[in-house]
Amino acid sequence: MIHYKSQAEIDLMRHSNQLVGKTLAEAGKSIQAGITTLEIDRIIDDFIRSNKAIPAFKDYNGFPNSACISVNDAVVHGIPNEYKLKEGDIVSVDVGVILNNYFGDSAYTFKVGSVSEEVNDLLEKTKKSLYLAIEQARVGKRLGDIGFAVQNFIEVENEYHIVRDLVGHGIGENLHEAPEVPNFGRRGNGMRLKEGLVIAIEPMVNMGTRKVKWDSDGWTVVSADGLPSAHYEHTVAVCENKTEILSSFEWIEAELSIQ
Ligand code: MG
Ligand code: MG
Repeated sequence: MIHYKSQAEIDLMRHSNQLVGKTLAEAGKSIQAGITTLEIDRIIDDFIRSNKAIPAFKDYNGFPNSACISVNDAVVHGIPNEYKLKEGDIVSVDVGVILNNYFGDSAYTFKVGSVSEEVNDLLEKTKKSLYLAIEQARVGKRLGDIGFAVQNFIEVENEYHIVRDLVGHGIGENLHEAPEVPNFGRRGNGMRLKEGLVIAIEPMVNMGTRKVKWDSDGWTVVSADGLPSAHYEHTVAVCENKTEILSSFEWIEAELSIQ
């Protein structure tokens, strides 16, 4: 069952999601060659708690850390560890918080120093696909329109591949609520979008095969061919006459522009 949110709930979710955006920016400041993903996780955990919120991923279904940090061929759900980032790596940081009982969820793929042109293109196209999907998240459109927007841009207009095994989701007083929001689909198909729907849209795009496998840690999802993968996520609210992006990359990108 879908829980459509009131304006008051959307206002609370904006706070939760803006804190996620600020947390990702804080993580972004620290990302450079030599830092371990575990050190980034500690920065994230400290920042969330110092803002009187709860890191939502910590202990979620047994996840051991406060952020999912996925390097290079890792798609999502990377467990922070002692790996030291290297120049040319990409690192997807996915953060969730609980603030005033409402969840925020957003993710961004950062570059470590400068990356190859091919990898840079993968990141730019994945981020663009997220915004194309958000344009479809309007009253009267359907879930398939969102999936189609991502898939058409990534797989038809470009030659990258959408991960099918993981999808976006409704969000609110729970991290994962109905409906599922796939990054693939057919135009005009699926559930009709109504005012008050709040969803996390999160394209996961592989440079090579769309197939993924699970690492032996039981969490980290990696591309089956070892090629890089990118992930961007926003939480958005479908309102009467507009779509509101509740999370924000504004702080991240302000931070990146001064580095
Ligand atoms: Mg997320
Ligand atoms: Mg999510």
